[in-house]
This record gives sequence, C-alpha cells and structure tokens, in this order.
Amino acid sequence: MQIFGACNRYVQGYGALGELKKYTGFMGKTFFIMASKNRLRALENTVREAMGSDLELVFFEFGGECSWEEIRKAEKAAKAAGADAVFGIGGGKAADAAKVVAHLLRTPVVIIPTIAASDASTSAASLIYNAQGTVEEVLNFPRSPELVLVDTRVLIEAPVRLFVAGMGDALSTYVGAKVCQDNFVDNHFGGKGTQTALAIARLSYDTLLGLGRQAKAAADARAVTDAYNRIVEVNILMSGLGFENNGSASDHSFYFGALALPGREEYVFHGEGVAFSTCCQMVMQGASDGELDEVYSFCLDVGLPITLGDMRLTDLTEEEYALMTEETLRQQFVSAHPFEVTFEKVYGAYKTADAIGHMYKKGGRLI
Ligand SMILES: [Zn+2]
Repeated sequence: MQIFGACNRYVQGYGALGELKKYTGFMGKTFFIMASKNRLRALENTVREAMGSDLELVFFEFGGECSWEEIRKAEKAAKAAGADAVFGIGGGKAADAAKVVAHLLRTPVVIIPTIAASDASTSAASLIYNAQGTVEEVLNFPRSPELVLVDTRVLIEAPVRLFVAGMGDALSTYVGAKVCQDNFVDNHFGGKGTQTALAIARLSYDTLLGLGRQAKAAADARAVTDAYNRIVEVNILMSGLGFENNGSASDHSFYFGALALPGREEYVFHGEGVAFSTCCQMVMQGASDGELDEVYSFCLDVGLPITLGDMRLTDLTEEEYALMTEETLRQQFVSAHPFEVTFEKVYGAYKTADAIGHMYKKGGRLI
C-alpha cells in the first residue's frame, strides 16, 4: 500500500496573518488560540484584528513545553470555552501541543509557525516531552493539520540561527527518503512512499543547495526575497511532507545518539544536530566524494555543524564514543538501511564525518 498525507491547506505570504479569517472563519464561532507569553504579546492584536469582532477568540498562554501537564491544562480550558478550532502559534512545541489538544477535542487544528526551524508544522505527529525535557512519547494522528499559515513578515524577525537550523533539518529529508524508497521501507504513515513524495524530497534538497546560501544572506539582511521565500517553503512544507511521506533512515539517529552523553549540555538546535547526523549517515552508506563535498560545503557556508566540536562535543573519550554509538544503534530508523548497521559502522561514521569536517574547516576539500 502506498500512502501520501498532507495538511489540507498551506498558505504562505508576507502579511498572511491579516487574512487568517478567510482561511479559518468557516470552522466555527469559538477559536482557542495557544501561544507563549511573548508570542501573545507580539501577535494577539494582529490576530484579533484579522478575525474581526463577530467570532469568539480565547487566548491561552502556553507554558512552552509540550508535556502532558501543559496539554491537560490547555485541553481543560479549550473544553470549557467550547472551542470549534484550535490554533497553535509559535515553534515546534506550540504546534505539537496544539495538535494534541485539537485531537482530544476532535476539532480542526491550525498551525501558525513563527520560526522556520523545523518541519513540525505540517506533520500529523507530536513529540511529548517529560519534565526533564526529553522525548517521552510520539503521538501519530489520523489527520494532518487543517491549515498551516506562514506569515513571512513574522518569520523574517526570527533569529537567523533558527532559520539555518531549519535548513539543517530539511537537508536530512532527501538523504533519509532515498534510503526508504530504494529499499521499500515504510514511511511515517505505515505505507510505501509515492513518487510524488520522492519528488518533493528531491526538490527540497536541490532548492536548499541551490538557494540556501542566498536565503541566509537575505535573512541576515532581514529581507524577504524570492530565495528566502523558497527556503521557507523548503523548511516548513517540503521538508515536512518529504520526511513523513518517504520515511526516515539514520539521518536523525546519529544526533539522537549524541544526546545520550550524560553531563554534556545540549547547546545545538534540533536542525543543527541533524545536519551533522546527515553527514554521518552519508559517510556510513558510502556516499561519493562529490556528494559529500556538496553537503559539507553547504553546511560550512551557512554555518551548520560539520564536526563534533561544532556540536559542543570536544575531547570525547572512547567510552563516550561507545555510548553514543550504542544509543545510535538503538534508534528505530537505523534498520531502514539495506545493510546491517553495526557498532563499527556507526563508530567509524562518527569519527570519519568529524575528520572530514575538520578538513573543510581548514580549507581542504574531498574533490
Ligand atoms: Zn527533524
């Protein structure tokens, strides 16, 4: 069985929030709107103006962690309000929490990302974190978000480092997708990938390598250019559709492996860690020098990690390498590869990917 899933509508544009009512007004009378304190301060008035006075808007201050405790609080408030639809405004965690609340209430969910740091907005899944801040559970929903509305006027104000992190997350999409499609591995909906899905993943990769540097320059200049627009679409829409509809390999696994090191605080964003993880996967599967050069040069130019040092993991002991390697081997998606993923392969990929990164930082190249 082949399965393709997507959000019902995707709207992206400068000032798109101003047209929120046009895309949501039909959903009902009462709207439950979740956002962090800072987001509410920045956007509550814009949302009120856009929705008009004939609809009831209930604003809820989201605490910032997508945990059951926060979700239950929001669910209670949304039920009491009699919400017809749930809006999640903010980053990945606000989106994920809104998806769960909407699912529990059986209402549509609208995601309004304020950063382009990951591909959480369009997906039909939420990561639930525990009080310690680590992932406790992954929930998969039968429906994707009803609407994802992206206002580039809001996004361009976000920190550039988050935008670059989003490119790192997007970089992994095709690299993981290709492995799954080549080997008939299930996608995240439990079906095989379609050619549509692979084309989206390939386009996200080509757009990233072709326009990512220029888009970063635009973000640095706080300018919404054509390249910036296209990379926003890559980070949020293409990467989201691409990973869910094709599946994942070890493109995230090396990063999750590194997170297992105790006493080593995490200083990198999800997409940053995923960029280095993607380099590791490519090394492990024997990517050509040309393919590696493309990816390493890109990461170096836009400021994505290419060494363990860039991930703030310096002077690792052999015990720490072993710990990361074992944790990587425990990751579900390493089984997507057509070869047996062994300790030696993972350990060797960490060390070699790091060594190649050092070569590029010193001005060397593989080709
Ligand atoms: Zn990711």
